[in-house]
Amino acid sequence: MAVVQGAEQVKKRIRAILTAPHLAAFLPATMIFAYWYGGEHLMVLVAILFPGLLAIGGTLTRPSPASPQKIDATTGLPKRTKLIEHLDFGFMPDAEYEKSCLVLEIDEITKLADQLGPVGIEHVLRIVSGRLRTALRETDLVCVLDVGRFGFSIDKRQRVDLEATLQLAARLQAAVSDPISLDQTRVLLSSCLGFAMPGRSPEANGEALLSAAESALSFAIQSGPGSIRAFSNGMAPRVGRIEHNRETLLRALDEGQIKPWFQPQVCVKTGRITGCEALARWQHPTMGLIAPGAFLPAIAKAGLLERLGEVVLYGALSAVRDWDNEGINVSTVAVNVSADELNNPTLSDKIKWELDRFDTSPERLVVEILENVITQTEDDVAIHNVKALALLGCKIDLDDFGTGNAAIASIARFNVHRIKIDRSYVTHIDTDIDQQNMISAILTIAKQLDIGTVAEGVETHAEHAMLATLGCDHAQGYSIAKPMPAETFLQWALTHEQKRTADVVVPKLA
Ligand code: C2E
Ligand code: CA
Ligand code: CA
Repeated sequence: MAVVQGAEQVKKRIRAILTAPHLAAFLPATMIFAYWYGGEHLMVLVAILFPGLLAIGGTLTRPSPASPQKIDATTGLPKRTKLIEHLDFGFMPDAEYEKSCLVLEIDEITKLADQLGPVGIEHVLRIVSGRLRTALRETDLVCVLDVGRFGFSIDKRQRVDLEATLQLAARLQAAVSDPISLDQTRVLLSSCLGFAMPGRSPEANGEALLSAAESALSFAIQSGPGSIRAFSNGMAPRVGRIEHNRETLLRALDEGQIKPWFQPQVCVKTGRITGCEALARWQHPTMGLIAPGAFLPAIAKAGLLERLGEVVLYGALSAVRDWDNEGINVSTVAVNVSADELNNPTLSDKIKWELDRFDTSPERLVVEILENVITQTEDDVAIHNVKALALLGCKIDLDDFGTGNAAIASIARFNVHRIKIDRSYVTHIDTDIDQQNMISAILTIAKQLDIGTVAEGVETHAEHAMLATLGCDHAQGYSIAKPMPAETFLQWALTHEQKRTADVVVPKLA
């Protein structure tokens, strides 16, 4: 690295000498000298060779052009190699400052790219990259590592310790989460971040430091949206997104390593449990618990989304049966249905068959579909499935509401039971007037259409209280409980109901 830098410097100096204007002044003197020394022939030769030599020297010493492959076409930011070079400087003995490496990835980037389409996602990435660049000092560097993944090299000045790095991490996440306008709608993002301090790097070079930060990012993604993790020595360095081959995934699905966990939904006013959502989790034998953000893309790539759907549905209906047997009433369980599954013409038959097998009445199963599905045309298989499931008696929840482009009026045509207001609209609703106005508008229209509402991602009691004031029906989020295994859910539900009826922990919010 240092050798390459040094060679570039020498080339630069020689070129400066060879291309300096005053060099041309030597031409007449050189020609006279050649005439004295070797006569007419030598003078003619020098007259021809002198400019030629200068031209060749200038060409040979021309700095290597920035290769277009080194620049990301969408954002104009440099790529991985540049970041490694920059981080390498921090390990040089004469470096003024050491460097820390941070890596940030927009949550659920694949899902987002599908939702927004190629033009939309490029617009979003350009805005995000601009904001990230301005959040840094001039001497710091931001690069693109993958779609929606950015790497940073940060000067570790005297006062830049762990605390300051965490603050910077939060600042970068805030830059990503500021609303982005796109075609008269607002796109609201969140992101995960991993970082590695130079002192913790497995080896004293940029590549090792970056790989440590990417490893920390993998752990952050595993922990769920919005997480931050620092690299520690126990983490095995990983580069890029985690890849799992089809066999590993199939085995994980078949052997019960991947199964649903359950997150409660409660009535906003009374706190009563009204249902739950089944969310896939992978209990990996060596890597520990993995959240879907870190393995769903691999499942989709391996063409195993339908198999995942079967595993989660089976797990969800088994859990409901077990809870019933224990005498705890969780009236509904919701499953997420991917576009792949919805495009299978036999989906509604498969679900009917499973419900019959468990002897569960269809209205206890909620099918969550993404908002974009209802923008498709009537004769689509997906629409046919949604209608067939509604006819069967299943409830339909419109997931991530507000992130797609469904005309709200078209919801009525599809027997949608509830809309699930995306977490991005719920965050800071207690303090942010724009958020309040947005949710008020959604709630008003939902009431007019006689459709229920669930707020997703309710993280604080203050947000919960504001939702009660605004008149949202149901809430789901960390302030109530995080997703948990079926057995833990049973215990949690029993305790929650006891406390609620004793009116100790869950006071009436209305
Ligand atoms: P989703 O359907 O929108 O699920 C809600 C996500 O928000 C879950 O992430 C949940 O753990 C998280 N969450 C809940 N409350 C809070 C909160 O208060 N704060 C924050 N920051 N997050 C909260 P999870 O489990 O990581 O799932 C991510 C996405 O993966 C889901 O988003 C869904 O699109 C997909 N997914 C999960 N399970 C399945 C599945 O079985 N099948 C399919 N096709 N997709 C699934
Ligand atoms: Ca969902
Ligand atoms: Ca959602």
